[in-house]
Amino acid sequence: MSVRSDPTLLADLHKYGNIRGCLQCGSCTVVCELSSDEASFPRKIIQYALFGLKQLVQSSLEPWLCYYCGDCSTACPRQTDPGETMMTLRRWLTARYDWTGLSAKLYTSWRWEIGALLAVGAFMLFLILSFHGPLVTDRVELNTFAPAEMVHAFDLIMAAVLAFFLLSNAFRMYWFTMQQGAKVSIPLRLYIVEAKTLILHFATQNMFLKCKNNWRRWLKHWLLVSGYVLMFFLVVVCLMWFQTDNIYPLYHPQRWIGYYATAVLLYGTIEIIVGRLRKREQIHKFSDFSDWIFPILILLTTVSGILVHTFRYIGLPLATYYTYAIHLIIAVPMLIIEVPFGKWAHLLYRPLALYLQAVKERALEEQEVTKEVEIAHAA
Ligand code: SF4
Ligand code: SF4
Repeated sequence: MSVRSDPTLLADLHKYGNIRGCLQCGSCTVVCELSSDEASFPRKIIQYALFGLKQLVQSSLEPWLCYYCGDCSTACPRQTDPGETMMTLRRWLTARYDWTGLSAKLYTSWRWEIGALLAVGAFMLFLILSFHGPLVTDRVELNTFAPAEMVHAFDLIMAAVLAFFLLSNAFRMYWFTMQQGAKVSIPLRLYIVEAKTLILHFATQNMFLKCKNNWRRWLKHWLLVSGYVLMFFLVVVCLMWFQTDNIYPLYHPQRWIGYYATAVLLYGTIEIIVGRLRKREQIHKFSDFSDWIFPILILLTTVSGILVHTFRYIGLPLATYYTYAIHLIIAVPMLIIEVPFGKWAHLLYRPLALYLQAVKERALEEQEVTKEVEIAHAA
């Protein structure tokens, strides 16, 4: 792998956020609870970035191993905010993994981000105007206005497209970090043995708990993630069951599962937006445009979904249909733009990085054991 310095790297990174001069004192790495001998950060990766060592930064998993607790920023004597630098590196890496180049445009230009969301929203409006069913006005018939079979077919196509972009970008992450950045040859067996790490970190995000006094943040993040994973599952996989004109009793799972997902999405997004407005916590002191747009879109999707539900239950047909159309015009662009190209992608990249790091560490351990055995035999 080339370790030549690229003089354009620093200017490029500045487009994605904050990266400032550093004394290389190492205080940040000392206080970081997640840094280890095998994956030491943030000092080292900041040094790579400042020296323009693009290939080393690109092949690094460390930015994804940081859970942005902010302890390093508090400890930094030069006040360079290394926690935010790690966030900047994650944005840059997301753009590097994305082969379409759209992530780079979205992260470096708010005009591109708004333009892309509006373009997909306009396309949704066109689809709704072209394909909606009759507007029954003497009662609410949402499934006549928007037949669940048709919406479900659209959802499945959309999910397949999202999965294609997201997984192909994840493959590039694997390629940069495990092939181009390989220090040891890794047998396929280790990828299979360590698959549990991927599932564990995706399901629990338990690395949050390793940071000091971070359990509240872990709980809020976990609830929020559970809300949108559950809602995504309900509207993409189970839409035929979820979108119905039947009014079920309160104890029916269709209602309380939907209410749980809605409640945690509402609480989680409002809490993030208020935190960013107040700027009291270290992690909220600096907010990129992408840090605002994602929670705002989830909040708008949730509120419009609550309105559809309310209008349907109190029996207002036209209000239900129009609000449902608005709900789709917000939700679909959010999913298409944010899941594979925007901030949502970190939900995949982070557990994937922890998994790949575990595979690397196992391979290095095995290599050490093999060397020791060889030395013992030679002696
Ligand atoms: S923000 Fe927290 S987890 Fe991330 S590098 Fe700093 S101390 Fe470590
Ligand atoms: S604590 Fe600040 S100055 Fe010291 S190595 Fe970390 S980022 Fe650099």
